[in-house]
Amino acid sequence: MEPLRDGHGRLIGDLRVSVTDRCNFRCQYCMPAEGLPWLERSEVLSFEEITRLVEVVGEMGVHDVRLTGGEPLVRRDFPRLVSMLAALPSVHDLSVTTNGFLLERDAEALVAAGMGRFNVSLDSLQRDRFFQLARRDALPQVLRGLERLAEFPEAQPIKINAVAIRGFTEEEVPAFVELARQSPYEVRFIEFMPLDADHGWRSESVLTGGELRELIDALHPLEEIEREPSATARVYRFADGHGRIGFINPVSEPFCADCNRIRLTADGRLRTCLFSLNETDLRGPLRDGASDVELEQIIRDAVWRKELKHHIGEPGFIQPERTMSAIGG
Ligand code: SAM
Ligand code: SF4
Repeated sequence: MEPLRDGHGRLIGDLRVSVTDRCNFRCQYCMPAEGLPWLERSEVLSFEEITRLVEVVGEMGVHDVRLTGGEPLVRRDFPRLVSMLAALPSVHDLSVTTNGFLLERDAEALVAAGMGRFNVSLDSLQRDRFFQLARRDALPQVLRGLERLAEFPEAQPIKINAVAIRGFTEEEVPAFVELARQSPYEVRFIEFMPLDADHGWRSESVLTGGELRELIDALHPLEEIEREPSATARVYRFADGHGRIGFINPVSEPFCADCNRIRLTADGRLRTCLFSLNETDLRGPLRDGASDVELEQIIRDAVWRKELKHHIGEPGFIQPERTMSAIGG
């Protein structure tokens, strides 16, 4: 079958699926303190519906599938979805992004269900500062979850993602560097993007990957590792051979030209960019009995119109209505 291609010639190979809009944290850069109005259960795609859509895009060459949310592990019976997707021949790389809170409970079931790779989000290694940012006093629980996950060789290498915010993250750098050097985890910093519910994002609040790299290089010299064109992270090894550290720089060094991703929201909308202002409903046609060929055509048409790039920092930039938690980061 024809591969899935957008109107700018980019091949699409990666689908991010938000399995729920709900979350047990309230990270300041993502959700408001009081939470958001959650979707009704009937509005959320069932496991069977998600699996069907993953199969349809799989036929068009989308082989990498990342499950996210909201917090994916709060979705009831989540490991069952993982085993359904892991069984699809078109899925070559199945991964999850989680805040880690429920990993102590679920790591074993997820690994057994066939989850390939894990990204755990963790913004501070100090309990009070973690609480300040996530609005949940959950650092010890997350660390226990990471330890549990690390018991499974199949889950290696485990990545830890920290959102980099000026005025907050600088103080975390030495502890994250030590973690990257002394543990099996690969730590990656991701630049703060304007997808927060409180609309508190300012360009000055982005602590860039370049700035962080300089700070870290001064502590322990770094050497860059060559990357694949569609890889979002710039990864470095410590020159003395102890561990790796990465930087995802969507604001200061946009990687839109190589973007191969599309996203499916928990309520079944296809988004062709994190910053899309338009979405394509797939749930309606799916529930109205559309055939695979009809779904394929709807997806191809939407992907053809994929945005050339995001416009963060440009005059006229409009922040999408959905927050990161409702898009699926
Ligand atoms: N709840 C899970 C978690 O936190 O890992 C999965 C969903 S969360 C929306 C996915 C990723 O998006 C997390 O790594 C989170 O730190 C990141 N994120 C959320 N809001 C962000 C923002 N405004 N800028 C950059 N990254 C953000
Ligand atoms: Fe929840 Fe993840 Fe958003 Fe934090 S970043 S509020 S854990 S969805």
